[in-house]
Amino acid sequence: MATPLRSFIDVANDSHFPLENLPYGIFQPNDNVPRAGVAIGDQVVDLAVLEEAGFFRDAGLGEEPVFNRDGLNRFLTLGRPAWRKVRAILQHLLGAETATLRDDVKLRERVFHRQNEVTMRLPARIGDYTDFYSSYHHAFNVGTMFRGAENAIMPNWRYLPIAYHGRASSIVPSGQDVRRPQGQTKAPDAAAPSFGPSKALDFELETAFLIGPPNELGDPIPIARATDHIFGLVLMNDWSARDIQTWEYQPLGPFLAKNFCTSISPWVVTLDALQPFKQPLPAQDPEPLPYLRAADDFVFDVQLQVDLQSAQMNAPQTIARSNMRNLYWSISQQLAHHTVGGCNLQPGDLLASGTISGPEENARGSMLELTWRGANPLQLPGGETRKWIEDGDRLTISGWAQGDGYRVGFGEVTGRVVSS
Ligand code: MN
Repeated sequence: MATPLRSFIDVANDSHFPLENLPYGIFQPNDNVPRAGVAIGDQVVDLAVLEEAGFFRDAGLGEEPVFNRDGLNRFLTLGRPAWRKVRAILQHLLGAETATLRDDVKLRERVFHRQNEVTMRLPARIGDYTDFYSSYHHAFNVGTMFRGAENAIMPNWRYLPIAYHGRASSIVPSGQDVRRPQGQTKAPDAAAPSFGPSKALDFELETAFLIGPPNELGDPIPIARATDHIFGLVLMNDWSARDIQTWEYQPLGPFLAKNFCTSISPWVVTLDALQPFKQPLPAQDPEPLPYLRAADDFVFDVQLQVDLQSAQMNAPQTIARSNMRNLYWSISQQLAHHTVGGCNLQPGDLLASGTISGPEENARGSMLELTWRGANPLQLPGGETRKWIEDGDRLTISGWAQGDGYRVGFGEVTGRVVSS
């Protein structure tokens, strides 16, 4: 069994950011412009400084700066050979036995920032955003509520990864407040709709992956090459207004119910860091069509947790625990399906999983499912109850893969709901 890697930077056993991880993000120090960094322990490594100092000379990044930018898009375009070279350089440079940076006090001062002293931005300019519907248990729960258990799963669901095209402009980084949306809603017994703040604000526990190198319009990405185009993953909260959704969604799907805000975690965990946590994709029945079949298709064993803290509560309460293994359709299948008709993906595009619910009652990734559409309100410490998210509530999603003596974590995506 491999022992955990050691860095000269202190990394706690339960830290999400050991030397095995090195997730990428865009950070802004108080006194400077946004640039790219990687997280280690409670520090951020300034990649712009390292690049300027020549540490990535042999990584094939090209002539123009890649990291002294406010988005990772240029780095994403370069593809896995360059990503792996940079990762190897960083793992060596930050290793406990490497003196180059460890013993250079002046350079260390410029390279390291404390995470609690910087502001995290979106990791990339996200041009397009798609949200799938790939968890069987989520589809089954929601389908059961609206159509009964017999008809819960639509006939197409087992043949293709269902999705809708979302809205990229309203994706925000973790920490930003979420304004309760106003819109049209109609109670079942009302004759006509009314306008006002949503009364059924929900979260959705999701993960999402960032696209690396693009494909040409008209040129599908075969499933065997899908991971060449996937840089890494983030956690996502797809805030949803269920009452607005109920009134607007037929026949074209979600619109204003989901375009008011989507929050993502700031650190992108690479596929290379998640490699040890791959598990074979469970057998699918019926067998998918050939363009959705891959010999070594996989899911990740990543634990997911949802915490809620109301304005009155002293500490957050865990309201759900799930796992990325609960995805029926793999990320490779999602990507192959997205492009099979010729759709071109761009570096920085975001493709999300859909709500990741598991078979257990506490593994449900939305209030819709946890309270069964409000029928069974959640009990919170202090006597409060919740059918939906109230103003002042903070919702936090965290996720990590558990290794032998270390964790490869995503950190968290958090957001507090404020009134309309
Ligand atoms: Mn969603």
